[in-house]
Amino acid sequence: MSHNRVWAEIDLDAIENNLAVIRARVGVGTRIMLIVKADAYGHGAVGIAHHAIKLGVSALGVGTSAEALELRDSGIRVPILVLGTVVDEEVSPALRQGIDIGIHSSDRVQKLEQTAKALGLRARVHLNVDTGMGRLGVLPESAVRLLQEIQAAEHLELAGIMSHISAPDGALNPRTLEQSRAFESVLRSARAKGLVRGWIHLANSASIFTDLQPAYDTVRPGISAYGVLPAELSGSRELQPVMSLLSRIVFLKDVPAGTPIGYDSTWTARHDTRIATLPLGYNDGVSWRLGNRGEVVVRGQRAPIIGRVSMDYITLDVSHIRDVAVDDHALLFGRAQGTSLSVAEVARKADTIPYEITCSVGKRVARVFVGGQDAFVVQPFPVHSVASLPRKQEQRAPAETPSSLPLG
Ligand SMILES: *Cc1c(COP(=O)(O)O)cnc(C)c1O
Repeated sequence: MSHNRVWAEIDLDAIENNLAVIRARVGVGTRIMLIVKADAYGHGAVGIAHHAIKLGVSALGVGTSAEALELRDSGIRVPILVLGTVVDEEVSPALRQGIDIGIHSSDRVQKLEQTAKALGLRARVHLNVDTGMGRLGVLPESAVRLLQEIQAAEHLELAGIMSHISAPDGALNPRTLEQSRAFESVLRSARAKGLVRGWIHLANSASIFTDLQPAYDTVRPGISAYGVLPAELSGSRELQPVMSLLSRIVFLKDVPAGTPIGYDSTWTARHDTRIATLPLGYNDGVSWRLGNRGEVVVRGQRAPIIGRVSMDYITLDVSHIRDVAVDDHALLFGRAQGTSLSVAEVARKADTIPYEITCSVGKRVARVFVGGQDAFVVQPFPVHSVASLPRKQEQRAPAETPSSLPLG
């Protein structure tokens, strides 16, 4: 399937496989709260969430209330937790839509209590305990006091108690075990005072794939569900990549030795070279740092990215690829036609982490959902011609964006 210049194929069968792998590790009695923040790590949160819920995911975790509301608007009814925190303006719309909110301060307890009271509803909150991440979350020594405040607030319902692990290697890291012990000790004190309610959750992907114990009743996988995990973690090989970033050759040219290519002329042909141009750049998710370092798969073979990565284009040396032609597909990462290039490898070359690679796939890249029962495309933009935009004086509300088009 080809979708214009650049597209991201999202393989719903791979998500199914990965959720089954996670399920097998955590056991049937454990709830899965799938983390779909940042548009499901760039995969398209609405499409991923609907499919994941059909596959038995119990809840979703997001980064902001806007992300939560997008999911609610799309018809999702399961609990959605804003993992971090909310700022004042977000509170009321989030509560109206029954969004769960992570909480870590008296200030937020009061704000949520006031707003929930004014709205005549009960706000569902998850206490976030900072056991070593050092970012959000209440320190362990203040956790019980905050639980008491939550219990005393008539319009708050404690829906969970959580903490977040900082080490990328999970239980293989002694710091994770310290975090786990600190969390356990908060739970013990809270239990002694009868303050524990709702779901208890600690484990992210790295913790799940290193069997961090205790595992509690709910886990929060993100990256592993998308098929990406450090190779050294056990079981990572059973995962399948969900996203494949694809483009097509739009131009081929043969240049003589001595020809400079791209901004700043950082690459110069040493001999006659066949150059392929692909119509995607750093705005679409090819890191600028892959200039003169990255590789792309064309006709099953690796072709080096030469010269700088531009905003809208990259150039490849395809001199060694027989029969290369305009319109040939190119794989930036993921799997296609029996070949693969892992997000982990691309991340290493770009000197970053895999998370940033999929999150950076830009908003003009169509997400093409394949597999599952229902293939569909989420178009990046409605296509307007400049002439059809309303004039200033007759400006209307922006046209409804068609968010999903069935492919028949
Ligand atoms: C992002 C996030 C996760 C998921 O982490 P992965 O490493 O992608 O599995 C879990 N919990 C919280 C609080 C998060 O912010």
